Amino acid sequence: MNVLVINAGSSSVKYQLYNMNDESVLAKGRVERIGLDSAILTHEPEGKSEVREVSEILEHTTAIKKVLDMLVHREFGVLHSIKEIDAVGHRVVHGGEFFSTSVLVTEEVKKKIKHLFDLAPLHNPAHMLGINAVEANMGDVPQVVVFDTAFHQSMPPEAYMYAIPKIWYSKHKVRRYGFHGTSHQYVSERASRFLNKPLDSLKIVSAHIGNGASCAAILNGKSIDTSMGLTPLEGMMMGTRSGDLDPAVVTFAMGKEDLTLNEVNSMLNKHSGLQAISGLSSDMREITEAMDEGDKNAKLAFDMYAYRVRKYIGAYAAALNGIDILIFTAGVGENSVILRKAVCDGLTYLGVELDDHRNETGRGIEKRISSDSSAVDVLVIPTNEEWMIARDTYELVMM
Ligand code: ADP
Repeated sequence: MNVLVINAGSSSVKYQLYNMNDESVLAKGRVERIGLDSAILTHEPEGKSEVREVSEILEHTTAIKKVLDMLVHREFGVLHSIKEIDAVGHRVVHGGEFFSTSVLVTEEVKKKIKHLFDLAPLHNPAHMLGINAVEANMGDVPQVVVFDTAFHQSMPPEAYMYAIPKIWYSKHKVRRYGFHGTSHQYVSERASRFLNKPLDSLKIVSAHIGNGASCAAILNGKSIDTSMGLTPLEGMMMGTRSGDLDPAVVTFAMGKEDLTLNEVNSMLNKHSGLQAISGLSSDMREITEAMDEGDKNAKLAFDMYAYRVRKYIGAYAAALNGIDILIFTAGVGENSVILRKAVCDGLTYLGVELDDHRNETGRGIEKRISSDSSAVDVLVIPTNEEWMIARDTYELVMM
């Protein structure tokens, strides 16, 4: 059985085709600059070289058609016919309070995703375009939607409610939802398997720190708190997002700088975080390089970032009343030796003991980086959201 995983953005479509029989990736790629006359399709078939094609792609239906054509291409394809794709799984950012698991796409499900456009105006409309484009090209192939928010629907009200006028929740559903749920769920399951300990007996804190960053407290396999909120802006410091701040900063800055709502939103989402503090880059690699060369702003950005990660781990150790496993994942978590060290060196009070030699780990492997005597198992687990989407799709379609 083959499953096509789609992540549709407003001007891009990323895809990955899985053979579920042996869990291998047959091909992956992306279409970028949809809506322009020079859109780019990059296709990476397994075992063959990468292909790039520039053409006019004005909307998502054409983008999906190009992807399907490439998957059955005589030279670069990996399938004989589109009929060999048995199901399609979509990443959907916001499932609101409607969805606590992945589901098969129906008219009712589509209505609910549309209902959530207000909560995720940049993402959900694009996902809908992806779903409709697959329908237009592939007829009634079964489609599944996998939500970034679903894993966190198990949070109790004391974690997801904001202490604000109740009507904002009752009327507009303003509350914490959390994101990166697919990743937090995946790495917590892998961690339990890696250590051969049952998930329903574990207190796990997972730090998904990439360009976007969030932390989750996972008790017995269920998320009980997470750092992102109504939107992905809350929580840890990120590449270009501020993370937590006093909400009064928003109105204060709007007044002083004469900013509109859109402008302040853009400043906090796109011009804050590592980028703003370093004045250099949102990329942790560039920050650490500059820091090594003595750049003071880069050092402050790094220190603030690491401090925020450590604070959240401490908060979630408190939420869980202890911690068995600490997981680092995503771009920074999987790759930055010095960030992991900066964080863990301040967690000795929890019994965390990093093994500096083990911490010098290469990319892409699951590894324990704590010492044998550490009270907490500290793991690096590469995340794989696409695989989770493929797995959920497979399970729902096979049921
Ligand atoms: P996204 O949140 O966009 O999915 P990723 O999880 O792919 O992002 O993380 C991307 C980020 O990971 C980059 O912006 C960079 O800061 C960081 N990163 C990647 N490789 C390294 C590395 N070797 N050392 C430090 N940071 C890295």
